[in-house]
Amino acid sequence: MADSQAPMVRPKRKKVLVDYLVLFRWIPAIFIALPISALIYFCIYVGGIWSATKSEKRRQMEHEENVKKVVQRLKQRDPKKDGLVCTARKPWVVVGMRNVDYKRARRFEVDLSAFNNILEIDTEKMVAKVEPLVSMGQMTKVTCPMNLSLAVAPEFDDLTVGGLINSYGISGSSHIYGLFSDTVVAMEVVLADGRVVRATKDNEHSDLFYAMPWSQGTIGFLVSAEIKLIPIKEYMRLTYTPVRGTLKEIAQAYADSFVPRDGDRAKVPDFVEGMVYSSSEGVMMTGVYATEEEAKKKGNKINRVGWWFKPWFYQYAETALKRGEFVEYIPTREYYHRHTRSLYWEAKLIIPFGDQFWFRFLLGWLMPPKISLLKITQGEAIRNYYHDNHVIQDVLVPLHKVSDVLEFAHGELEVYPVWLCPHRLYKLPVKTMVNPEAGFEQHRRPGDTSYSQMYTDVGFYYAPGAALRGEVFNGAEAVRKLEQWLIANHGYQAQYAVSELTEKDFWRMFDGSHYERCRRKYNAVGTFMSNYYKSKKGKKTEKEVLQAEAEAAIREAADADAE
Ligand SMILES: Cc1cc2nc3c(=O)[nH]c(=O)nc-3n(C[C@H](O)[C@H](O)[C@H](O)COP(=O)(O)OP(=O)(O)OC[C@H]3O[C@@H](n4cnc5c(N)ncnc54)[C@H](O)[C@@H]3O)c2cc1C
Repeated sequence: MADSQAPMVRPKRKKVLVDYLVLFRWIPAIFIALPISALIYFCIYVGGIWSATKSEKRRQMEHEENVKKVVQRLKQRDPKKDGLVCTARKPWVVVGMRNVDYKRARRFEVDLSAFNNILEIDTEKMVAKVEPLVSMGQMTKVTCPMNLSLAVAPEFDDLTVGGLINSYGISGSSHIYGLFSDTVVAMEVVLADGRVVRATKDNEHSDLFYAMPWSQGTIGFLVSAEIKLIPIKEYMRLTYTPVRGTLKEIAQAYADSFVPRDGDRAKVPDFVEGMVYSSSEGVMMTGVYATEEEAKKKGNKINRVGWWFKPWFYQYAETALKRGEFVEYIPTREYYHRHTRSLYWEAKLIIPFGDQFWFRFLLGWLMPPKISLLKITQGEAIRNYYHDNHVIQDVLVPLHKVSDVLEFAHGELEVYPVWLCPHRLYKLPVKTMVNPEAGFEQHRRPGDTSYSQMYTDVGFYYAPGAALRGEVFNGAEAVRKLEQWLIANHGYQAQYAVSELTEKDFWRMFDGSHYERCRRKYNAVGTFMSNYYKSKKGKKTEKEVLQAEAEAAIREAADADAE
């Protein structure tokens, strides 16, 4: 690796009170967050059983009544008196990391909490109709026993359909199916003026269909979605392949793990992920669905990774560096949620001894603490500490730039492990907020097709090397540099993460043309906060938002005249 990419040597940082609060964060995590989380999970479990006892017809009827309530509520809003519209979901409940400060300002809340039912599983059309608060854990619990799955089933249990469509969502099957929103067949949306429309790829609302993903709920409220299902098998046959070398060589081994050099499509695995443990070591994992009969054949090893006392998945995968390549069978649902118990690897920072055998055995069944409870037990000081000394970012980059971003991040962040997850980025009929690189079709690099470019989600979640060594680290500055790197390299920042982007840079990273057109057409301007202001870090006043909206409206009107 070139010297320029080696991590910077930084001065030591003096410890302050908040360092000790962070050090002992495991106390509220274990004694408050874990038991309350268990109680919440139990209530969700009972709620799931209760929901399953209702007939499809009844669920659909309740859905229609709840949609009417949303429409009525929106009609009660007086734009002169009331603030901008947002959901009544409490800011600490969401999984994402952004400050949801707009929820402290004057606002007009619409309650969507009743939208948490799976409405229909259509095994003929292979489509699931679900409400937006249905979580991934709830979904796989129903579909896996039917040997079905959402085409993209993001790994973390608590993620919701609404968040994954209106923000972004990915899983190890995204190299085949694209992002979560690419697997959506239809969306039912309540617009700012109370109209309820069904948007599909090719009906009169196809523009809305393409504008909703990444919009952060700033065009309308999603009240149900029809999502593609795929047939699956009971087990995942998983191969763990260790890799040693430079970051370039690790990136190459990662690409080779799911893009066969001879172009043979039969060799493309069903699931892929890579974990980079240091600047010289990684493990690539490829999964292929397998029947129970195959998994239980003599000589095959079955690993129930979902059992509470099992080693945390990322640590278990790392053992491939010592053992060499190995293969095993994991029950499919347990495989899907393999990172949930250890919150990928974030749980190690919250409960440092949580990975020890005695803890896993005694309390592992209570894991993980709910992100929402961790958020309310952290307080302002710890939140700010995390902004400075901790990184949670997912960045989407073209596959051919994975080695570059790894080298860049090694120098600037030095955060390990790094998660690698490939995904197609489709060239759609309109320019949505995220698009492949111009001219990618001509290059046709490995993994690309004429209609999609292969991208990779590179996930950095942990304390940077400098912070772990007790050195000065400026998290905001590091994120700012990463964002500039992304803008220069046609990459994107996942919007759940803390962003330092200015408004101008936000719209240099994301394409706002189609999004803004749809906001005007569907009367969202003046009702919903615009995307940048919603995701902007720090407090924003209503005045600030309304002024920006008014300026944007003038700019957009001028653009429309020019067109
Ligand atoms: C620990 C952790 C693990 C994660 N793991 C994964 C992972 O495995 N895979 C993955 O893809 N991502 C993952 N993410 C990121 C995740 O994609 C985002 O957090 C995403 O926003 C989904 O979170 P949520 O369901 O809480 O949505 P929210 O944060 O509630 O919603 C996201 C956005 O969508 C809007 N929205 C939600 N519902 C509606 C609706 N009905 N109508 C209109 N707008 C709506 C919200 O207003 C918000 O702006 C992870 C994040 C963290 C912090």
